[in-house]
Amino acid sequence: PLVLGIESSCDETGVGIVRGTTLLTNTVSSSMDEHVRFGGVIPEIASRAHLDAFVPTLRQALADADVTLEEVDALAVTSGPGLAGALMVGVCAAKALAVATGKPLYAINHLVAHVGVGLLDGNPDGGAAGGTAGRSASLAGGLGHEGRLPENLGALLVSGGHTEILKINSITSDVRLLGSTIDDAAGEAYDKVARILGLGYPGGPAIDKLARTGNTKAIRFPRGLSQPKYMGTAEEPGKHRYDWSFSGLKTAVARCVEQFEARGEDVPVADIAAAFQEAVVDVITSKAVLACREHGIKDVLLGGGVAANSRLRELTGQRCASAGIRLHVPPLDLCTDNGAMVAALGAQLVMAGIGPSGIRFAPDSSMPVTAVSLPA
Ligand code: ATP
Ligand code: MG
Ligand code: FE
Repeated sequence: PLVLGIESSCDETGVGIVRGTTLLTNTVSSSMDEHVRFGGVIPEIASRAHLDAFVPTLRQALADADVTLEEVDALAVTSGPGLAGALMVGVCAAKALAVATGKPLYAINHLVAHVGVGLLDGNPDGGAAGGTAGRSASLAGGLGHEGRLPENLGALLVSGGHTEILKINSITSDVRLLGSTIDDAAGEAYDKVARILGLGYPGGPAIDKLARTGNTKAIRFPRGLSQPKYMGTAEEPGKHRYDWSFSGLKTAVARCVEQFEARGEDVPVADIAAAFQEAVVDVITSKAVLACREHGIKDVLLGGGVAANSRLRELTGQRCASAGIRLHVPPLDLCTDNGAMVAALGAQLVMAGIGPSGIRFAPDSSMPVTAVSLPA
């Protein structure tokens, strides 16, 4: 099926078009530049930017894919989770298109779509940067062979809004949340720490770069929720065995900077960046691999904007390899928010014979990951 997907959950306006598992186009317009001076995404600005960007992005996508709206078999739109006002723009646009064209519309879960993108063919792994040990053997034609996902698949999603480990029993009907952050998302922690260190926004790329010149062992920052009372044992897992917490780490960085300043010493920004990054990446990868081992997961897809992080790619690659888990990292433009992932999941739903969502649904800013798409 020819499916057009619309994404507007945060600061990217995305329209992607797929035919089955073939990607035709992935057109994205980001309002990131408009948020820079505020040091974070401002929901109202994001919503207005979606309004401005939607029609041009749609036209561009149709032109790039060389298809008309009449030829499209189904529409898909992110209905959650995300910023309520931002979601509303994409959802209203999608409903208007559905009414105008008479095409079926699927209301789709953004997080599951991050996984669905791995099913597109000709989607060679972007490669974990950890050399041969980290580089996964790419399955023929992307993550799914002939559009089928491997069994025992997990997904590690790390972005500005999410840090989650999922188990995908069926991409269209059975997705479970194994663990998630209980406070800040990892990308959010990067952005907050970058602000503390005076590195600007977005903080991820700046810290990633600076950390390469620092000593990861200069300071030891806390790995949240790793104490025995949270972890429990394999037989009796603690409540937060696979969960993360990054707000204490952010506070520890702020205290550390204050101590150097109080002593009148230069703040070792590169060492702090390196030690902070090591703490984030160490606890993300150790808990993700633990969750995979204890749930029989053999293939893991890494997604979200923080998948761009060089150390996360390296350590995930190394630890997955040691645990006998294959790691799949889609190309970066498919890891960050985009419309192609929404279209990819929409096509899977159509091919699985699952019915569309109608046009009466409302966007849900906290849509649970167990809801892959909304029923009519
Ligand atoms: P969502 O959570 O809905 O996917 P988002 O827009 O917050 O949306 P992304 O666009 O996927 O998330 O990613 C942006 C985040 O990724 C920012 O927090 C940014 O700091 C972080 N990031 C980008 N590059 C890197 C990097 N090299 N290292 C660490 N973090 C990075
Ligand atoms: Mg974004
Ligand atoms: Fe996202």
